[in-house]
Amino acid sequence: MTTSQDFHHHLGQELQAIRDSGLYKAERVIATPQGAHIRTVAADGTVREVLNMCANNYLGLSSHPQVVEAAHQALRTHGYGLSSVRFICGTQDLHKTLEARLSRFLGTEDTILYAAAFDANGGLFEPLLGETDAVISDELNHASIIDGIRLCKARRYRYKHNDMADLERCLQQAGAEGARYKLVFTDGVFSMDGTVAQLDAMRSICDAHGALLGVDECHATGFMGATGRGTHEHRGVFGRVDIITGTLGKALGGASGGFTSARREVVELLRQRSRPYLFSNTVAPVIVGASIAVLDLLEGSTALRDKLADNTRHFRKAIAAAGFDIKPGEHPIVPIMVFDAARAQQLAARLLELGVYVVGFFFPVVPKGQARIRVQLSAAHERADLDRAAAAFTQAGRELGLVP
Ligand SMILES: *Cc1c(COP(=O)(O)O)cnc(C)c1O
Repeated sequence: MTTSQDFHHHLGQELQAIRDSGLYKAERVIATPQGAHIRTVAADGTVREVLNMCANNYLGLSSHPQVVEAAHQALRTHGYGLSSVRFICGTQDLHKTLEARLSRFLGTEDTILYAAAFDANGGLFEPLLGETDAVISDELNHASIIDGIRLCKARRYRYKHNDMADLERCLQQAGAEGARYKLVFTDGVFSMDGTVAQLDAMRSICDAHGALLGVDECHATGFMGATGRGTHEHRGVFGRVDIITGTLGKALGGASGGFTSARREVVELLRQRSRPYLFSNTVAPVIVGASIAVLDLLEGSTALRDKLADNTRHFRKAIAAAGFDIKPGEHPIVPIMVFDAARAQQLAARLLELGVYVVGFFFPVVPKGQARIRVQLSAAHERADLDRAAAAFTQAGRELGLVP
């Protein structure tokens, strides 16, 4: 065998091991725009019209006519691509406008755009913190936060998920070990459970220990809080979080792009030193123009986030009444607990036959014995959709002996 044959044979064995352990992830092909109702095409060519309950399309903006129109408009006025990073010739008036609008929306001084939130988190810690500093991170933080922290030289501390006593223990330890600056960082909302970080308690604890507080708002910007500003608004600490990272790729239209929003000095230093910003292309004008239209919509009316909150309450109530075990909460992520991985997959497969598209999550994405279906609600759903979904869950759940 040549080295090349040997290497590719080795990869084939790795892939087989992933399949054998039941962890292989396949892509489902969709033949429509994103929305409450989509058409899927299976590998064997089977076409299905399904109710989509697993998108991050929280506000239903992914295919919203005003957003699509703004994208067309930006394409006409600002072209398709810029073929440049920001600091050479990749900054248009649109980019500056969107950064200012995001700052206003989030209650911060300044904002820097990235190609993705993964890059915002990946390029956040290394420029800001040195080896005499400390970063204190929730154990369930998103992969991009973990990677970003790995790239920086600061000392790392990890506290038990959402455990304020353990956070304090880490801060004490970091202090005792002589940390110069301490940055506590958390997801605003955790994607597997819909848990909302206790930013109010965290702010007090950080103040008591002289620490900065940062939050990743990917599952919150646009709909958490009375006017949709995010978890900081929801928890009563609007304007009091030091660093916010977020995405344009979920509630805010769902195309792609991310940002970091913070004090002027933080953003200015990131523009000088953050590697994904310096060495990767600017966000396309189509996305930037459409994102400005998204903020126009959200600042003009809370109707979409109100409808989402209403849908969330309605569906949570219906699915609990049907006898399902759900993680309590108020976030549009609704984890429906099945516990057993095989049954979670059976439930998702049966629901697809019944015209409801949801996905089962099991180890290693969630702990062993904690398999679940994660439903995500959207302002694009109508009451009739939710009732249909609850009825399908009830039927499939009964067939599998999960509910009475
Ligand atoms: C989705 C997500 C990201 C990544 O966002 P992209 O813009 O798609 O790269 C980062 N952090 C959290 C918490 C997320 O949920």
